Amino acid sequence: MIIAFDGHSSTGKSSLAKEIAKHYHFIHLDSGALYRTITFITILENKSFDELLDENYCIPFLTVKCDDNELSIFYKNQKLESQLRTQEVNSKVSKIASQPRVRDYVTSLIRETLKDKSVVADGRDIGTEVFPNSDLKFFITAKPEIRSKRRFLEVQASGGNSSLESIHQNLMDRDKIDSSREVAPLRVAEDAIFIDNTFLTKEETFILVKSYIDRKIEDISE
Ligand code: C5P
Repeated sequence: MIIAFDGHSSTGKSSLAKEIAKHYHFIHLDSGALYRTITFITILENKSFDELLDENYCIPFLTVKCDDNELSIFYKNQKLESQLRTQEVNSKVSKIASQPRVRDYVTSLIRETLKDKSVVADGRDIGTEVFPNSDLKFFITAKPEIRSKRRFLEVQASGGNSSLESIHQNLMDRDKIDSSREVAPLRVAEDAIFIDNTFLTKEETFILVKSYIDRKIEDISE
């Protein structure tokens, strides 16, 4: 079974997908982390994406492993986590993710790594491009001001010092680039369930999504 969560930046898609995957014992894929990884490595190595690739169309020293129902990403034996969430990565990732060759690389990597597995995946093009035959597709959004405020509170709680204005600007910039790029732009799949969680708590969003999934599982098993 494949469940896709696409939508705007900072709508809580990734935490929601993670919780849903945990609940149903599926693998969680945060596809944004892969685009962030490529961005991080291009910055670290000071190379373009094409310069990073070897003759086998691989990025040397990059490994993606599936443990504990989560994908773990390693570069030069170092697990990548907080390095992917810096302001520099935030400000460059959408531009890098709009390159067709980068999208090709990430899409192939996802399909290869998760072949034949039950997956809850989140991103911008999961239901439209990566897994168009997903069993269920959700599109998650919320009012921009609410998303910026939620992200701001998260950043503050984790000791960061970005201003609300800079966070808001980054979200707006990323949404704009993601929605207007030529290849696999962010859009609502025709068969997606549209959820605006502006006035919903995390728990309410989880319960709503779970009700759709439970119904789908019942339909499949009938
Ligand atoms: O999900 P997250 O905000 O971490 O994603 C970071 C960026 O990666 C997005 O703003 C978008 O530019 C890109 N992305 C994408 N397609 C995906 C997932 C993420 O283009 N499926």
